[in-house]
Amino acid sequence: MKKVALIGKIHPIGLDILKKYEFEIIDLTGFTREELKKNLSNIDAIALRTEILDEDIMKSCQSLKIVSRHGVGFDNVDIKYLKKKNIALGITGTSNAITVSEHVITMFLYLCKNINNADKIVKDRKYKEKKSLKESFEIYQKNILIVGFGRIGKELSKRCLAFETNVYVNDPYVDKNIIKKNNCIPIEFEEGLRIADFISLHMPLTNKTKNMIAKNEFKLMKKNSIIVNTSRGGIINEIDLEYALKNNFIFGAGLDVYEKEPPEDSNPLFDLNNIVLTPHNAALTIECQKRMAIETCENIAFFLNDKKNLNNLNILNLNN
Ligand code: NAD
Repeated sequence: MKKVALIGKIHPIGLDILKKYEFEIIDLTGFTREELKKNLSNIDAIALRTEILDEDIMKSCQSLKIVSRHGVGFDNVDIKYLKKKNIALGITGTSNAITVSEHVITMFLYLCKNINNADKIVKDRKYKEKKSLKESFEIYQKNILIVGFGRIGKELSKRCLAFETNVYVNDPYVDKNIIKKNNCIPIEFEEGLRIADFISLHMPLTNKTKNMIAKNEFKLMKKNSIIVNTSRGGIINEIDLEYALKNNFIFGAGLDVYEKEPPEDSNPLFDLNNIVLTPHNAALTIECQKRMAIETCENIAFFLNDKKNLNNLNILNLNN
């Protein structure tokens, strides 16, 4: 009987798949590093949420064949070690794009309609002070810049187009014709920052993308612009973001991800009223959790068993 370790809770709908394939499920959720090392030696697959899986832990695995991430990012897994040991890496590549792009639209609208301040005025029994609110504005016919045109960027573009906006895309790794076929306009990064009213980031955190939005970029942006980051913390420099928001370089910002997660209680962004913050929960809708649990477990089941049903999007080629 093949053994699958769960490190992190997933929706039970995924576990039903593992049971159907008659795998033994070993729940190691909440285990310490030392406990993990002791319990992983004869495991064939790991279903992993956000816990760190480094070489020190994985070298205790004698039979590991696949790590299946519940999510698309894999910065918590030691990829070099997986390559060295020829262990596969699965991701839930197709599950969360719709949910995350809905989160971005929510943040765009929340900020441009000034919902947080409007809500506060009513709840503070200061209804008559509504004239003191900053002027809100529409998304209609505005310029949207999407940076990163992968799974989420593409889903977001469809939703932005439904609002009758001009959708500009910057992604140096995607053919311009693909961008045009999706009814979007390819644009250089700096030019995009200059003309955009709404900006959303959808690329991975790498050496190239770290601090990609910092003081100089905020200076290029329109004073009425809104920027949202649901991709990875660190792509926007938080110190410079605070400066830009405090000094009205931009209208507002929305973050679902942070340089440090969870952020420190003393994070100065918490005290600003032109930012909306969510706790890395853009993908945590019930529909998305179910899809992710299914994909996490199907990746394991198909990989360990019949391989023929494998979704090519989901098992990464680590040699690229
Ligand atoms: P994806 O791999 O499908 O697409 C990423 C795109 O970024 C690719 O098209 C790539 O060409 C592009 N890119 C890379 N470097 C770039 C650069 N320097 N400038 C512009 N584009 C660049 O990824 P995805 O599934 O769309 O996810 C995007 C990001 O969202 C990832 O960082 C992922 O970890 C994050 N994410 C966050 C949540 C959340 O809960 N907040 C959920 C899912 C994904």
